[in-house]
Amino acid sequence: MSAGSFSGGIRLSISDVSANKPFERIIPSGVVTIPLRQDLGGVCNAKVKKGDEVKVGQVIGESATPEGASIHATVSGKVAEVIKAYPHLLGGFVPAVVIESDGKDEWVGLESSADPLTTIQQAGIVDFDIKPVPLVAKLNEAKSRRANALIVNAMDIEPVLSSRSRLLSERVQEVACGIDTIKSIIGAASVYIAVDENAAQAISAIGSACGGAATIVGLNPKYPQAIDLLLVKSILGKEVPCTEAYCVADIGALVLSVETVAAVGRAMAEKKPVVDRFITVTRSNGTGAKNVQVRIGTPIREVLGHCGISVEGMGKVISGGPMMGTAIANTETPVTKEVLGIFVQHEKDITRFDAAVCIKCGLCVEICPVGLMPFIISGFSEKGMYSKAQDNDIFTCIECGCCAYVCPVMIPMVHWIKFGKAQIMAQRSSE
Ligand code: SF4
Ligand code: SF4
Repeated sequence: MSAGSFSGGIRLSISDVSANKPFERIIPSGVVTIPLRQDLGGVCNAKVKKGDEVKVGQVIGESATPEGASIHATVSGKVAEVIKAYPHLLGGFVPAVVIESDGKDEWVGLESSADPLTTIQQAGIVDFDIKPVPLVAKLNEAKSRRANALIVNAMDIEPVLSSRSRLLSERVQEVACGIDTIKSIIGAASVYIAVDENAAQAISAIGSACGGAATIVGLNPKYPQAIDLLLVKSILGKEVPCTEAYCVADIGALVLSVETVAAVGRAMAEKKPVVDRFITVTRSNGTGAKNVQVRIGTPIREVLGHCGISVEGMGKVISGGPMMGTAIANTETPVTKEVLGIFVQHEKDITRFDAAVCIKCGLCVEICPVGLMPFIISGFSEKGMYSKAQDNDIFTCIECGCCAYVCPVMIPMVHWIKFGKAQIMAQRSSE
């Protein structure tokens, strides 16, 4: 099926050198550190203590809420420590469990349940997207809002990442099983699989596995097409209201990443919980680019070592991609459910600049995919005029970075917009 598109956005000139590289498995042989918060559902309670023996797939963190996702051991071995305050990838401190691997990789499977929602909760499945939400919460919301279209998002979130299209071509049976399960949970009448129109291998693999059960939609990979509200617009032709509280379920759709759907298939068919991430690792000049299936808790240093990416002369390590990713403080940070990819810039690949004054060229307005006036919002944030920034829909910004990318005088608009949002949220929580 061909689809529409959205206004704004950009075609990035960054080549995707990992696209044809199959997943390589990384099983850490030493120590893993597993934070007990890895999604927006809150901190899990530790279910193990120092000295306990654990197996892969054993629950080590239990959610305090019925919709929250459990957290599992990702190696077999002995709990070396339960840390009370471990620095979290996105700031702040959370508890974490440190496990010393015994190298045996012994597993324990999920308990059987007749209720697929229980299996999904126990398997620790979140929607593996920019804001990872426990999947049970997302499915319950979709059910309550009567979402009748399921969109499986196999579009890679940023141009240098290819793990979603690789996963779709390598794990078709898991994806097909996940689609069946989710479709029956929410009662969806139609299923669409959104895939980059250039990912021919993924398109042919899933096309024959799903038969007529899903419509394959090849989309132009204009950035940021993989954002859920833009997918809904391109595939269903429906505009998602761009308000602070927008929700694609409001207009009858549920969008889930293909990694999420595959995880559901694996939990249902093989009784396996989430212990791995499927991510792309690359350097800004393309060297070392690989797709890896890596155990959660593995230090990023070990992942880079597997890819032959040297830490010498390293400038920035980014969780995610160059447009929307977050720089991490050090390479001992573990891979978690929040990590969408790893992008490395060596010092010599980084261009430094001083932002100048806006010349009112209007390019940022033209490019914004959600129709904002980026220079106005970022200007208000920079000056601390947060109510004015809110009046200009600061929370509608999806933080795609297109505005800053095209700005001829390199004004860091996304930085100021994120800063403004954080200030407004802090003000609200103190009221
Ligand atoms: S204002 Fe936000 S949504 Fe618009 S281009 Fe900039 S970062 Fe993207
Ligand atoms: S692109 Fe940059 S210079 Fe042009 S209007 Fe936007 S902020 Fe100003």
